[in-house]
Parts: sequence; structure tokens; C-alpha cells
Amino acid sequence: MKIREMEIPITHISGVGPALAGLFARLNIFTVSDLLTYYPRDWEDRTQRRSIAEFSYGKVHTAASVVSHEWFGFGRMKTLKIIITDGTERAVLICFNRPFLQKMLPVGCVISISGSFSFRYGEIQSSSFDFLLLCEKGSIAEFKNAALPDSAVYSIYPLTTGLSQSQIRKITAKAILNYTKGIEDEIPSELLEKYGFFNKQKAIQAIHMPKSAEEAERAKRSIIFEELYLFQKSIIERAAERKSGMTAPAQKTVTLKKDLIPLLSPRQKELLERLPFELTKDQMQVIADINADIDAGFSNSEKKNRPFYMARLLQGDVGSGKTLVAFFAALRTIDWGAQCALLAPTEILAKQHAENAARLMEPLTGGTEKGVRTAFLTGNVKNKGRIPLLQALQSGDIDIVIGTHALFSKNVLYYNLKLVIIDEQHRFGVVQRNTIIHKGRSSVVAAQKLKTQNILENPALLMMSATPIPQTLAHTVYGDLDVSVIKSVPEGRKPVRTHLTRAGNEKHVYETVRAELQKGHQAYFVYPRIDTPDVPEETPHNEGGSPAKDIGGIQRKNTLKSAEQMYAFLSQHVYPEFSCALIHSKTNEDEQNDILRLFYTNKIQILVATSVVEVGVDVPNATCMVIEHAERFGLAALHQLRGRVGRGSAQSACFLIYGTNLSETGTKRLKVMHKSTDGFFIAEEDLRLRGPGEAEGIQQSGYLTLGLADPIRDKELLHLARKEAERDFYLNSGT
Ligand code: ADP
Ligand code: MG
Repeated sequence: MKIREMEIPITHISGVGPALAGLFARLNIFTVSDLLTYYPRDWEDRTQRRSIAEFSYGKVHTAASVVSHEWFGFGRMKTLKIIITDGTERAVLICFNRPFLQKMLPVGCVISISGSFSFRYGEIQSSSFDFLLLCEKGSIAEFKNAALPDSAVYSIYPLTTGLSQSQIRKITAKAILNYTKGIEDEIPSELLEKYGFFNKQKAIQAIHMPKSAEEAERAKRSIIFEELYLFQKSIIERAAERKSGMTAPAQKTVTLKKDLIPLLSPRQKELLERLPFELTKDQMQVIADINADIDAGFSNSEKKNRPFYMARLLQGDVGSGKTLVAFFAALRTIDWGAQCALLAPTEILAKQHAENAARLMEPLTGGTEKGVRTAFLTGNVKNKGRIPLLQALQSGDIDIVIGTHALFSKNVLYYNLKLVIIDEQHRFGVVQRNTIIHKGRSSVVAAQKLKTQNILENPALLMMSATPIPQTLAHTVYGDLDVSVIKSVPEGRKPVRTHLTRAGNEKHVYETVRAELQKGHQAYFVYPRIDTPDVPEETPHNEGGSPAKDIGGIQRKNTLKSAEQMYAFLSQHVYPEFSCALIHSKTNEDEQNDILRLFYTNKIQILVATSVVEVGVDVPNATCMVIEHAERFGLAALHQLRGRVGRGSAQSACFLIYGTNLSETGTKRLKVMHKSTDGFFIAEEDLRLRGPGEAEGIQQSGYLTLGLADPIRDKELLHLARKEAERDFYLNSGT
């Protein structure tokens, strides 16, 4: 059985009751398959000892005895310090919220201690440690040479509140014991041998419960290779399928409006006439190419030739006007009498597209009696509105539906869906992209059973992205697609000016923004998190144990500003004279809509947000983008966020405020932003700067999401997978 087919509910594993299942559900783990493919994000190697004296080389793992207990702080804030020694050095365990450790670890006991230590305030400290009691009263000498009983490599999983590492480890261990026997390999066994990869069963066991750090690493590489290999295989197959037998249309070069007009269908002509601006050269060319593709799809199927399916990736920098191109593609399809679906990654973006589509397309009749019928569908459109909408889609009374992934849920059937447009496609991930194509296909097949007419099994696909994949990877990642690029930006735009500001100097930025607001413009303020968690994170920081000083002395790691906190601060203390609003992914949909509407109409001047505004908000009057803790965002995200301004004719500015302890690469990344506004250049630099592990702590920017694999970090494995998948394909196809 393939691992993904193990759809046994996790409640079948002994020890998983409803409460635990509920916690796992928060991590999207419902089945044994989900659990076994919930990979650790890291491992902690406790097979080797490391003494306290060697703490600066990595995590300490040693036998130590408890020397004494001390306390600092008062009342509820009182915190226990346990002083230990392993014979090399003394160290201090800071026991935040764990006063009970005083009784558990009495003076004189011996423990196995594991954790990271650092030198602070004249002592070696740790506040994140694990221990195992070895004996209540004894000497460390007894444990000097023998392996400690908790010596092993421990998996570290991404957690959710209420679920601990050891719970996940325990349940995963049971699943491994009971269910991994029959796991099938999905790649040829010669490859496993040739490169020394584990077979699937062994890889799954070893990634969760490795015997050594090397074994964990090898398991990880094996799984990454498999992902990349399967991915490459599907790309090669699809590319071959598209190239053989399907007659790709001839492309015409179009540079002038007068060359484009004769190529347009009635509704496309109407839209062109109504536009208040001229299309850019690249927009015209792409529209011509897409027209040729779509026509080939319809006319080939009429002639009973092997149909041609468009599969095109449209890359164009933020603000280059891709939406309009998508609307032209939709109109072409509608003029052929078929349906389109436009998929967006967020509600905000979907809503915005739906409103634009209604405004721009509904009046277009193309000489018939009816205009374009548009609809908006997300998971939040509930029964009352949903049922008639689904019926209308199925009976062909809707021409274009716009929404989130709800568009492709099981119960959504189409009358004749011939074009699927995916906006910001990099946000969906490759696997999801396949699912969408598949669902698009099966929903049409379902409609066919209902005896509707004119069925093509594959809808044409137009994917759009402002996050260009670096050229060096494009072929491998998008090898099955035709790629169009919009390089020219609409006339009259001025490049956004980017300023780098060190944290501490925000005042300057706030004042510059005020001047813009006073001119009638608007601003965004973006923060890396929604709110400030109230649990103290484990950063020890106390002034040498003197209680009086320590009350406020426990510095919490939550120095990261949050959108909520800064909304309160900015609206009350900095800009009381302007109206501010707060928006993030937890803001409910109605409220989001209200806020955005008010922002569009300049009733709100300042939008405080998280990266939810990264895509889709298009307000030309906004001229300032302030991003605090900019080092926390990936380059692709920063570029997208900056693209929210500079959409009108006024000069816009982006302020990147960065923390004081910026890493070397962090500095380089921000310099790239300062230097360039070219998305393609930024993508290449991102690739260059992202060494292995570099992405950690930075919000994933992701060009495409696989499981464990990251095509950028794992580019060597990607190329290897490509080579092997190609060879396999040609061997099997006999060429
Ligand atoms: P993106 O490529 O980032 O998706 P959009 O499609 O959102 O860009 O377009 C950004 C803005 O530019 C929109 O307000 C759109 O109406 C406008 N726009 C699109 N094409 C042109 C053009 N040729 N000339 C002027 N403005 C344009
Ligand atoms: Mg867009």
C-alpha cells in the first residue's frame, strides 16, 4: 500500500481518544498517513555526551548533580533556579513556571540533563532543558562512562498548544510499529541502491525514530528525493502528453493596438473600448497568445482532433496588470459559450477580483441579449446563497465564477468549465495544482453524467504569479507549461522608493508617513504577527539573582511587535487625527469587507495588517508601505507587500524597519530590496542568498510547496531527480 492510501483514522491507534484526536486535527492530522508524513522539523542528538564546559558547541547532554536551589522575583513571578554541576562547570537551570521542580529535583540527586545553555549575567544558564532523574542521592562518578539511559536521537515536531513532543513521539512510534510493514516504494529500487536512499518503509521509520543523526539525515534525503522524483516524473509526462498529438497554435507577434483588434472576439472588443487606459505592449502580446491557445482548444475539439489544452504560466511583476489579461482570457472562453473559474488564494483577493469582474464584465454583451453573468463563491458563502449559486453553475447560468479553493470542492459541478485561472499560483503548491486540475476535470465529467453537452475533459489552465521562479529553476519546475512574461508596466508609474530604517528610529518614518497622509494619501503598516501571546517564551534574562531587580527583569521574547498592539499604539498615540483599521487573517469576513471598502474609498487612511494584504489589495491612492521587523519576511513576501504601493501616479515609498541584531544574510536581503524593484532580479538573489537552513525563522516565501522538499534549498537533489525521471521516462517510452 502507498503511504498516502493509509486512510485509517488515527483514533484506531491505541491511546488516541477524542481529545487527543482533536489536538492532532489542529495540525491537519486525521489519518495514519497524515501522522506518518508529519515529519519532524529537526532532531536532537543525545547519543553523544556534551559537558557543560562545552556548551558553546551545541546542546549539552551529560550527567549532573543538583547543588542547590535559589529563587528570584516575588509572589507569582517567583522563579526557581536550580544550580547543577557535571564536574566540568556549574550551571543554572531557570525553571519558569515550574516551581514544582524543587521537590522533583532535590539537592544531591543526579540527573541526565539535556538542553541549550548560554552564558548570561556571569553564569551558564538554560531555561529550555529536558531531564531524567537518575538517582535521588548519588554521585555523578557512577554515570561517568556508561551511556545515559535517555541517550537517543529525538525528533522535534512543529507543535500546537496542548500537544507535547513526547505525545507526538509516542503516538507516532505506535503507528510505525503497527502500520509501516506494508508501505510500498514509489520509486524504482535501482535508484535506491544507486544513491543509497532508504526504501520507503525504512525512510519513514528512520525519519521519526532515527538511531543516529546520520540516519535521520539519510531518511530525510530519501524522502525529499522521492518527492522531487515523483514531481519531475509528472511534469515530464504532462509535457510529453501536451507536446505529442496536440497541435499547438501558431503565435503571432502583436505590438500595436491595431494588430490586436482584429484578433479579439466581440466581448473582448467591448472591454478594450471601455478601458480608461491603453494596454501595455506585453499585455497585448499575451492576450494574443492566449486567444490562439483557447481557440485551438475549441476548434480542435470540434474537428475531433486530439484537443489542445492550454497550460500557461503568466509571470508578471506586481502591478503589471495580469488581472486584466485574465479577464480577456475569460471573455474569449465565454464568447465560445463556455464557463470559467478564477481561483484566488485568499478571500480578500477573490472578493476584489469578483467586484472587478462584475464591474468590468457584466455590461459586456458581445452583441447578444445578455451580459456576462459573474458569481462569487467561497467556503463562507453559506446555504441560502450557496444552493441557487451551485444550481446556476451546473445549469450554465453563470459564465464566470470567482472564489477560493471552495470552487473545487466535491459538490461543485460545472456545466462546461473550459478555463481555470489560478491567481498567485505559487501560493497553492504543486500538489494542490494537480488536485485542482484533477478536480476541474472530474467536476466536468460529473456534469457529463448529467447529460449536459459540449464536454472537454481538460479545462484550459492559466496560472498567474508575481513571484517569478528563478530562471535557473524554471525549466525544472514549470517544464510542462508554456510561459508568458509581462515585463512592461503601465505608463506613468514611478518606481517605489525603498528606505531601510533601523529599529529605534521609527519616529522618523512615522513623521514622513504623516506628511503623506496630510496630502490625502494612505498608508499600510505591516507586522509579522497578529497578537502577542501571553506566555513568556523561554529566554532567561535575570540580573544575577538579586530579587529586587528581577521583577521586571525577565525579558520576554515577545519583543516582536504585533499588528494588534501596534494598531492600538498607532491609532491612539501616533495618528489620532487619522482613521485607522486593523486587518488580519482572523478578522471575520464581513468585517474584512467593510474595512477594505472603507480603505478603497479613503474613509480609512491607515491599514494596520499582517501579511494578509500581501496579495490582492489594489488602492492606487496608498503611497506608503511600512514593514516592521522586515527581516522576518521572505524576499518574495517583501516584494509583494511593496507592490501594494506605487499603483497610482504619485511617488510612493516603502519603509523597511529592521531589528538591531541582523544576520549577515539578513543585511544582504534587505540591501537587495533597497537596490531593486525588479521581481526577477529579486528572485535570483533570493536563490543565491538562501543557503541550507537559511529559511528558518523567516516567513516562508515559497515559490512552490512540496512536502519536505524545497526546490531551492534542495536544488542538487532536484537536478538528480530530473535526470533520473527523464531517463526512466525515455526508457519506458522506448525512445
Ligand atoms: P497584478 O499584475 O499585480 O495582478 P493588477 O492586475 O492588480 O496587477 O493591476 C494593477 C493595477 O493596474 C490595477 O488597478 C489595474 O486596473 C491597472 N492596470 C492594468 N493594466 C493597466 C494598463 N495597461 N495601464 C494602466 N493601468 C493598468
Ligand atoms: Mg494580481
